[in-house]
Amino acid sequence: MPSRKKAQGKARKAAKAEKAEEEGKKQSAVGANNEQQALGAQIQRLQLQDLFSEHDDDTTGDDCLHGHTLLPEDDVAHQFMKSFMGHYYDAVNADGRKLGPDKFHAAIKATDEDLGIQTTENEVRMDWVLSFLYGLGAQFILDDSESRARMHAEIACFFELLKCATFGTEQPEFFETQIADIHTLVSFYRKKIPCSCLDEKYEEVKSVSKVGLCRNLNCSLPGHLVKRSKMLYCTACGTTNYCSRECQVEDWKRHKKT
Ligand SMILES: [Zn+2]
Ligand SMILES: [Zn+2]
Ligand SMILES: [Zn+2]
Repeated sequence: MPSRKKAQGKARKAAKAEKAEEEGKKQSAVGANNEQQALGAQIQRLQLQDLFSEHDDDTTGDDCLHGHTLLPEDDVAHQFMKSFMGHYYDAVNADGRKLGPDKFHAAIKATDEDLGIQTTENEVRMDWVLSFLYGLGAQFILDDSESRARMHAEIACFFELLKCATFGTEQPEFFETQIADIHTLVSFYRKKIPCSCLDEKYEEVKSVSKVGLCRNLNCSLPGHLVKRSKMLYCTACGTTNYCSRECQVEDWKRHKKT
């Protein structure tokens, strides 16, 4: 990355941190949020607000929203996202920062209860939610915040699955957000956003071998990770993959029941 860009990124990060701190002060002064929240959840939430408010005072183009369009704060989609993220972070933090579909569905349920409507049963709203997650995740990649980018890729994937199940839209691509290599992660976001903001990053990481997870629980490879190009797919279901014929055979007893 050219150093000018890096410096810009740093300056932007510093400005963001400052803004977040300000917001934090504002929030605690008002005492609007009386729920008990973990520090991590607070920080994440501030970032969310930060992204939403970014374009209000600065339209230099340096802070592209990567295809996301801002909605007024009282818009139901905006309220949904804010509430959902709060519930999701709380659920994740309450379980030792472990992600997973259970947290996702719990957060959806709690959010529907908050708002009194089934927000996810509106396709336009779902698309807005997805564009928010893609934009935020792309920004995390640019800010070198890989773990956050992963987390939001996982949330986006769950929303894609939910959208597919609700509206019969295209089946989302199979994507192991938690173990994916940086090449796969950057590709995921780059394909989702309409701008070219991740092109430079993609050039940086495209030589990294794509890896996947061998599904044999007793696989002997470190972390059960295998290069995608070497992966074998189960011919019965087409989605379960293995590092070797041995692992596939070993796992068959378990897998055939699923
Ligand atoms: Zn962009
Ligand atoms: Zn294996
Ligand atoms: Zn299978």
